[in-house]
Amino acid sequence: MTHNVPEIYGCMVFNDEVMQQRLPDEVFKSLKKSVEQGKEIDASIADTVAAAMKDWAIEKGATHYTHWFQPLTGVTAEKHESFLEPVGGGKVMMEFSGKALIKGEADASSFPSGGLRATFEARGYTAWDPASYAYVKDGTLFIPTAFCSYTGEALDTKTPLLRSLDALSHEGVRILRLFGDNDTQRLETTVGIEQEYFLIDKAMYDQRKDLIYAGRTLFGAPAPKGQELDDHYYGELKTRVHDYMADLDEELWRMGVPAKTKHNEGAPAQHELAPVFDTTNMAIDQNLLIMTCMKKVAERHGLVCLLHEKPYAGVAGSGKHNNWSIGAAGKNLLKPGKTPADNKKFLLMLAAVVKAVDDYQDLLRLSTSHPGNDHRLGGNEAPPAVISMFIGDDLQAVVDSIVGGTNYKSAARSKMNLGIASVPTFTKDTTDRNRTSPFAFTGNKFEFRMPGSSQNMAMPNIVINTAVAESFRQFADVLEKAEDFDAALEKLIKDTLCEHSRIIFNGNAYSDEWKAEAARRGLLNLKTSVDAFKSFSAEKNVKLFSSHGVMSETEIRSRVEILFENYAKLINIEAQTMIEMVMRDILPAVNAYTADVARGAAAKLAVVPMADVSMENDLVETLSRLVGEAFATVKELKDADACAMAGATSEEKATVFAGRVIPVMEVLRRKIDAMEVLTADDYWPLPNYGDMMFRI
Ligand code: ADP
Ligand code: MG
Repeated sequence: MTHNVPEIYGCMVFNDEVMQQRLPDEVFKSLKKSVEQGKEIDASIADTVAAAMKDWAIEKGATHYTHWFQPLTGVTAEKHESFLEPVGGGKVMMEFSGKALIKGEADASSFPSGGLRATFEARGYTAWDPASYAYVKDGTLFIPTAFCSYTGEALDTKTPLLRSLDALSHEGVRILRLFGDNDTQRLETTVGIEQEYFLIDKAMYDQRKDLIYAGRTLFGAPAPKGQELDDHYYGELKTRVHDYMADLDEELWRMGVPAKTKHNEGAPAQHELAPVFDTTNMAIDQNLLIMTCMKKVAERHGLVCLLHEKPYAGVAGSGKHNNWSIGAAGKNLLKPGKTPADNKKFLLMLAAVVKAVDDYQDLLRLSTSHPGNDHRLGGNEAPPAVISMFIGDDLQAVVDSIVGGTNYKSAARSKMNLGIASVPTFTKDTTDRNRTSPFAFTGNKFEFRMPGSSQNMAMPNIVINTAVAESFRQFADVLEKAEDFDAALEKLIKDTLCEHSRIIFNGNAYSDEWKAEAARRGLLNLKTSVDAFKSFSAEKNVKLFSSHGVMSETEIRSRVEILFENYAKLINIEAQTMIEMVMRDILPAVNAYTADVARGAAAKLAVVPMADVSMENDLVETLSRLVGEAFATVKELKDADACAMAGATSEEKATVFAGRVIPVMEVLRRKIDAMEVLTADDYWPLPNYGDMMFRI
């Protein structure tokens, strides 16, 4: 256990400091310039960078390198190559060329391509992303890369993310110019990702096929205690959990991930880790690394880290909050300003985000949609499936005054007779938090709370960046033509806020009243992932992504195909796992127990003919009935599953899985959970909810 954090921090990362030490000055500068301006790397410097990277990596114990990429499987991919190069005479050298750094060939045929493969070549390539640092982990140099088909279609999540950052920057700089900023070349978005997770003892995990195959428990009666006492949230860390977290922190610090906050979460055995925010591309890569390290470090502690959104029914699931803001030259543009001029810019930024969230509710919902997250959204523990925005009372007063054309009144201040051109400075009380809002303004950033704990955060950010880029584009188109800038600005802010105020809601978004109110306001309510997937390729969305060069129509269609395909495959795995567990583990165990109870009753009666065997009779009767019903439900599930799998397209399959298979799975679960509470512990073949959540 180390004590000198600054010394170990980032020691496994090929970061600016290392680059500055090891690269010739002009090479370092050229590299930095490309990164800062989002330009392509000058190929002539690649050999020098590669050689320096290799020498450094070897000193850190690396023998291999890998292009590390993010295919559409939802997890990261790596293929390790050793630096080794035979030089004759039975000898080898350690080599790494600029060519190998910049570009890798990857056989794309085993990664999801959503039909792109049929139209284009199976070959794909990975391209170095110098904006995210390379690092050494377990003897391999990891090089962050983008992954494309041979003809240039994105086969990954990083490529459209980088394109969305370019789009946002391009349109945002137009806005800055209008405010007299002629210097800023690039706008950056920053992201801080809070990661929730569960821990479970490895020995218990190994006994649950559902956790192994599906990542969540498909059965399990509630334990006598859940999270009702709120005693876990921010509670004292158990020694074993503390040791795990300490080990994890150190691992992450070595990899240059600024792990900052850690605490127990709402559900028993649920925890959270949040690093300090960074630029979007880096923050997302780091979150992927965090998830990898969480799982790996758990192994060393005899634990398993569950990143599924809903490992256990009946207690809170795990989300991933995406804190997002826009900045230029280190200045946060979402920070309410100190001067009226700054405030106008801030209000325009606010209007841009309000408009983006309202116009692209469907895409925001889509960006968080996958089977795991369907268990959270709309449940009473996570944001509802309806998108709305929280801006808080203070800012709401400003918006009201703009929309209503009335005076701005603040509880804290005297009445002021001012138009927006001189909206006074106001401070956002950061304690004013609304935990029920899917998209909340938290003082100088927005927090998007819908994403699920297991997901790659590229898509939510692609959507936010591109939707805000579109707001900026429309704003710039109007303002660039304006004769009177101030008047046009004032009108634009007012019109935008008027038009989109329906998306703002500062109340309790978990309440039933809000559901009704949201419907009255005409806000979208896409209940399941399948509903959300369908909206991806809507004309307005294709137009958005293609016009900003983020995703082409072909790329969108291939992604929709993959979403449906993955959905169908995942639910099929869950259904098959249930069938296997019920037929091979659970029903045999319940039958054995029932038979023993019956034999016990007969034995009692043989000794005492008038003995009270009402408990035995009742148990045998109830359990036999439930076994029969469960068996019938298994047959029903098999039929429903076969029907879903017979669908002609992935969309058809997914639709049947959502509409017909999942409801049968729920029925089966209820029958099994009813048996669990009646069956003696010794017979039940699975660790129960109490054991899994409390014995850690
Ligand atoms: P809470 O649990 O109250 O939402 P946390 O402290 O757990 O807050 O997480 C807040 C996250 O927001 C952290 O990752 C933090 O670094 C990040 N953050 C703070 N400022 C910004 C910003 N300007 N842009 C993006 N993320 C930010
Ligand atoms: Mg949060």
